[in-house]
Amino acid sequence: MTEVRICHLYPDHMNIYGDRGNISVLTKRLQWRGYSSKVTNIGVGDKYVPGDFDLCYLGGGQDKDQNIIALDLAKKSSALASAVDDGVAFLWVCGGIQLAGKRYVDASGNELQGVGILDLETIAGTERLIGDIAIRSSVEDREFTVVGYENHIGQTYLGSDSRPLGKVLHGYGNNSYDQVEGAVQQRVIGTYLHGPLLPKNPDLADLILTWALEHRTSESVSLEKLEDDFAVLAHERAVVRAGLKR
Ligand code: GLN
Repeated sequence: MTEVRICHLYPDHMNIYGDRGNISVLTKRLQWRGYSSKVTNIGVGDKYVPGDFDLCYLGGGQDKDQNIIALDLAKKSSALASAVDDGVAFLWVCGGIQLAGKRYVDASGNELQGVGILDLETIAGTERLIGDIAIRSSVEDREFTVVGYENHIGQTYLGSDSRPLGKVLHGYGNNSYDQVEGAVQQRVIGTYLHGPLLPKNPDLADLILTWALEHRTSESVSLEKLEDDFAVLAHERAVVRAGLKR
């Protein structure tokens, strides 16, 4: 049985929005299709070995926690960059997208070095961007809507090597001006949509799982559709909440 190897980075520091729920969705959707998975928590001081994983997840956190992990991430950055070049699927959320970029200047003016796997930088603004958000995504040959909740003071600006995860339909997104959300570069996705992102966005979950399986098997993968009415209903409900439909 093919086993997908998932790395959950810093679950102790970067887990303020129930990020473990996103990991459960990944493992469950694999299991429903007959794949197994292994989740390894990697924290401060642990070694990240690039060849050990097919998928790397980093969740949201506050500036205080980001300050702690940024120092540790700097030690892992070349291993992480080589995993990216090898086609590993990355999903880095909120505080994660900020540290995937080149730098984050936090609300106290500290400059944190990012890993640089996404061409972007983030500077804390003066007001928090909070609320329901919906975006229209187009990644590779797929198009889908992603819904969620954002809460960040960081204002993120993309460089020319990364493209947005989606256009904002409702909400703020990366910053107060550009009307785009998140970033994609190689098989790295960064997004501000935190909390239960994957339970209500099955299309996004399956995109990431397809990439992870392709890394695992070195073959092109087309996942069978699941009968996952709950996930579809959760998605539709969130779309309504974001003010897009009645
Ligand atoms: N430093 C973050 C901010 O901009 C963290 C955001 C988050 O993970 N919710 O507020």
